[in-house]
Amino acid sequence: MTLREAVVDLGAIRDNLAAVAARVDGTPLLAVVKADGYGHGAVPVARAAIESGAAWLGVTDLAEALELRNAGIDAPVLSWLHDAKADFAAAAHAGIDVGVSSLGQLERAAEAGALVQLKVDTGLSRNGIALAELEAVAARAAELERQGRTRVRGVFSHLANAGAPHDEAQVAAFERALDVVAAAGLDPELRHLASSQAALTRPATRYDLVRIGIAMYGLSPDAAAMSTAELGVRPAMRLTGEVAATRRVPAGTGVSYGFLTPTSAETTLALVPLGYADGVPRSATGRAHVQIGGARFPSIGRIAMDQFVVDVGNAAVAPGDRVVLWGDPAVGEPSADDWGDWAGTIGYEIVTRLGRRVPRRYVG
Ligand SMILES: *Cc1c(COP(=O)(O)O)cnc(C)c1O
Repeated sequence: MTLREAVVDLGAIRDNLAAVAARVDGTPLLAVVKADGYGHGAVPVARAAIESGAAWLGVTDLAEALELRNAGIDAPVLSWLHDAKADFAAAAHAGIDVGVSSLGQLERAAEAGALVQLKVDTGLSRNGIALAELEAVAARAAELERQGRTRVRGVFSHLANAGAPHDEAQVAAFERALDVVAAAGLDPELRHLASSQAALTRPATRYDLVRIGIAMYGLSPDAAAMSTAELGVRPAMRLTGEVAATRRVPAGTGVSYGFLTPTSAETTLALVPLGYADGVPRSATGRAHVQIGGARFPSIGRIAMDQFVVDVGNAAVAPGDRVVLWGDPAVGEPSADDWGDWAGTIGYEIVTRLGRRVPRRYVG
């Protein structure tokens, strides 16, 4: 027991991936472990994902990819966002596929001898090769392949999840991109487009591989539209703290910075030793609830850097009691998706911003 602790259930990671696999008709899975595994720990999550049958791992940048290799993970890894001087020789040496978004990146990756996957912009307007430039990039890639300097292992893109008509337009744009790539004489073995949301809801986006992030962590890609229970997954992260102090106060007592909402009656206040430094969003002030001893209680007053206060009424809460901030909604705990709602954000941001001061403990 510690002041604060995030328990990460690797059994949930494995079960969630298996649940996703069962819903995508056998399409191979790429497990997305960027951003330190969405705050869960990239290396342990990657190992669990591989045990559960993930064919690929995906990360944003090369430093994240190399962290996996340095931990001894030898599964296929794709990395897709690079700075102007990214060390593609290190990628080649470590056997990391480089997602390339421009002719310049293709040239540098081939120069370094790395395998590449062409990232195409089908409408998201972030990185990726514009369709207008794809013909030239694909022609050059085919030439580099013929010279034995690289291999184009895949072609991929990313959806905006902006609703059915937009997603369908992006699928059509992706089809055009695949035609352009084939016409250049390339024959990539991996075509991939879908992340969790599309993989689970739009079979036409699945192609040869689906890139699964949030669903593997047991959160919903769209909490308003589909609950985790409906998706057949459960949150892998449970964040708890220990009640650090309690005090009995009269009605009208100011609580925390700014005295936002004085107590309305005599009550007991319980101090929770986590705050925004730990990833508890300050913007959830006035809305956040926690669970103590199986009961739900509201927070009261400003969420501060290191602590916040819970109004437990007349409940027999004592220092040392465990406080569940977020965990599994199926057993009545608040969820990271709930915190996303309270903070005006999404569950993705809640778990990803878990602070360094919170020790992770792995079970399962
Ligand atoms: C983050 C990311 C994913 C995973 O998205 P989820 O919604 O978490 O499943 C997939 N593909 C790319 C390119 C990403 O950046």
